Amino acid sequence: MDPEPRRDDEGGDPACWARLVCPECGRLTEDPAARRCPVCGAELPTD
Ligand SMILES: [Zn+2]
Repeated sequence: MDPEPRRDDEGGDPACWARLVCPECGRLTEDPAARRCPVCGAELPTD
């Protein structure tokens, strides 16, 4: 049913990727280890 099982952004736990949403531009960073937004360079929340 899901053609891209790795992009489980609807059925997964929102908390695990919510911190990866850039507070500046709103883009979802795909790298869970990222500390900064790859688009605008803003620091991502790390708590
Ligand atoms: Zn950004």
